[in-house]
Amino acid sequence: MPELPDISVYIDSLEARIAGRRLERIRIVSPFVVRSVEPAPEVLEGLRVERLERLGKRIAIGFEQDLWLVLHLMIAGRLRWRARWPQRPGRQTAALLGFDNGVLALTEAGTKKRASIHVVRGRDGLAEHDRGGLEVLEASPQAFAAALTRRRHTLKRALTDPRILSGIGNAYSDEILHRARLSPVRLTDALDAGALERLYEACRCVLGEWTERLRAESAGGFPEKVTAFREGMAVHGRYGEPCPVCGTKIQRIRYAANETNYCPRCQTGGRVLADRSLSRLLKRDWPRTIDELERRESGHRRADAELEPRATKGEDPGTGRARRAAKPEAAESGRREVTSRPDDTRVAKGRRRRPE
Ligand SMILES: [Zn+2]
Repeated sequence: MPELPDISVYIDSLEARIAGRRLERIRIVSPFVVRSVEPAPEVLEGLRVERLERLGKRIAIGFEQDLWLVLHLMIAGRLRWRARWPQRPGRQTAALLGFDNGVLALTEAGTKKRASIHVVRGRDGLAEHDRGGLEVLEASPQAFAAALTRRRHTLKRALTDPRILSGIGNAYSDEILHRARLSPVRLTDALDAGALERLYEACRCVLGEWTERLRAESAGGFPEKVTAFREGMAVHGRYGEPCPVCGTKIQRIRYAANETNYCPRCQTGGRVLADRSLSRLLKRDWPRTIDELERRESGHRRADAELEPRATKGEDPGTGRARRAAKPEAAESGRREVTSRPDDTRVAKGRRRRPE
C-alpha cells in the first residue's frame, strides 16, 4: 500500500500538473470505486483544482466550491498520468479525470477492488476521512511519545495504526523499527525514554529520506513505479537476505496476508521470533492486513461490506482461507525450535485474556 513517502510524491506530481486546472471531464469506469452517494462525482466537472492535501494514506483533491475528491489507493490502486483521453479505458482503469493538459487515471490491478473515491463537501466532509493519527514529521518528541504510549500495543501495531500515526504502513514500519533497533513485538509501555527517542528519530529519518529519494527518482516525471518493495530497503521484503548493517539473515513473522521483516541481531537481541505460532498469540494486537484494519475502523463499513462480505467463521479474516493449515504449521514451528522472547509471549497471553 502506498504510504507517506509515496503519497507525498504523488501529491507533488499532481500539484505540478493539476493545481489551478479545470476538471473538464470525469468518468467512473468501475462503479464500485465510488463509495459516496452525494455529491455525485460529475458535480466536479468544470471546477478548478484549488489545493491538494495528504490525509494519512489518502490523497485529497480540493476543488472550487469547497468540494473534495478523496482517493484511497489501498493495496493495488495507482495513479497514472496520460497525455490524452484514452479511446478505450484499460482493463485496470477505475476512473479517469480529464484536464486540459492531460488525464489522471486511477488504476487497480487484481480482482480485489478496494481502492476508493469519495466526493465530499467542505472541511467537515473531509474530516470524516481523517483517521486522526499524528503527523510524525510535524510532531514534537513529546507529542509522539504521548500518542505512541497512550495504549498498550506491539510496536508493529502502534506504528501502522492510522489512529495513532498518520501515513505509516507495513513497509515503512519495518524500516523504521530496523532503524530504531527495536523489536516489532516490543510493547509500547515497555519503552524507556531512550527507545522512544530512537523511534521518533527513526520515523522522521526513514520517512524523510524515502520521500526525498522517491522524489529524486521520479525527477519531475509522474511516479509510475509505486511499490511497497523498494530496492535499498533494509529489511522490508528482504526475508532471507543479509541485513545491510550486520549481515544477519532477515527474518519474518507472517500473519494472514501480512509479513513483518526484521533483523534478529539488530532488533531482537539475537532471537528469532516464532513465526506463525507467535502470530496466533499476537492476533489481537497485530495489524491484520492493513486494509482490513482500515476498513474495520473506517466508518464506511456498510458500503465495503456490501462489496466484500466479511470472512465467515473458520476462515482467516485476512485471506478468507480456511484455517485448516494451523496445526501442521504449529508443529513445524515447534520443530524449528524457534522461540519467542519469554516476556513477549507472556504479555501476549495476558492480552488474550483481556478482550478489547
Ligand atoms: Zn542487522
